[in-house]
Amino acid sequence: MELDQYNDPSVIGDCSAPVRVNRKSKPDPTIVDVNGLRFGSAKVVTIAGPCSVENHEQLMETAKAVKAAGGVILRGGAFKPRSSPYNFQGLGEEGLKLLREARNEIGLPIVTEVMDTRLVELVAGYADIIQIGSRNMQNYPLLKEVGMLRKPVLLKRGMMASIEEFLLAAEYILNQGNDQIILCERGIRTFETSTRNTLDLSAVPMLKHLSHLPVIVDPSHGTGHRWMVPAMAKAAIAAGADGLIIEVHYKPEEALCDGQQSLSPDEFTRLMSDLKKVAQAIGRDIY
Ligand code: PEP
Ligand code: MN
Repeated sequence: MELDQYNDPSVIGDCSAPVRVNRKSKPDPTIVDVNGLRFGSAKVVTIAGPCSVENHEQLMETAKAVKAAGGVILRGGAFKPRSSPYNFQGLGEEGLKLLREARNEIGLPIVTEVMDTRLVELVAGYADIIQIGSRNMQNYPLLKEVGMLRKPVLLKRGMMASIEEFLLAAEYILNQGNDQIILCERGIRTFETSTRNTLDLSAVPMLKHLSHLPVIVDPSHGTGHRWMVPAMAKAAIAAGADGLIIEVHYKPEEALCDGQQSLSPDEFTRLMSDLKKVAQAIGRDIY
């Protein structure tokens, strides 16, 4: 592809994907490497952990349970984008310090969200993967800022974003030179009210068709119901997802955030063994 085409943000071919994220400009899949865990390889990567970091015991106990069940990356929000300003907003830097402690003691890399351009450097100092949440998928200054990092970015689909808008958001990051981007389908808003969001699993093959970037699925925010998470996690692997991000809490009934969609350690353990079978059925495996 000619270099000047890279400056053209319009679609190419029959694909509604901008040039840099477009598979046509890079036929080989992009592998996002997190301490040797390769998103986009034959192996499926499972990220799990609490919605938010609440305290030392909660994070350590949950992290141990995630690791014991076979989860390979720990999630946990320190800066939380809550719909209500009166809800728990996260522990901030204190939460980042707890994540670092869990990382060092339990040995799992961590993913955590950044919401503010002023905090990118701080969060990047703690995280192995920087998360851009659904609400910030079109925060272009933030996308540019994480694009300047040389660190993996987990980009969640905006709850009202089309596939094209999602890929354009990834293009902002790529344009700054950072190609270590993991796309995450986490459900979109539709007329349906029985689930928190409508998990668009058709986004998985579509994103992989249009782009070379790895794609993971969040069945927790995608459904909002603990009991639905295993079914949709298995379906996501069957649909070709390169990984999953799942909310797990050592005591879901006591969680300060998203307990209703968080798996208990036992539920997560059972799910991991089922996921392995689904992955193997389609010629893949799980880390
Ligand atoms: C999260 O993963 O903690 C989160 C807030 O998800 P989303 O941005 O998809 O709502
Ligand atoms: Mn959550």
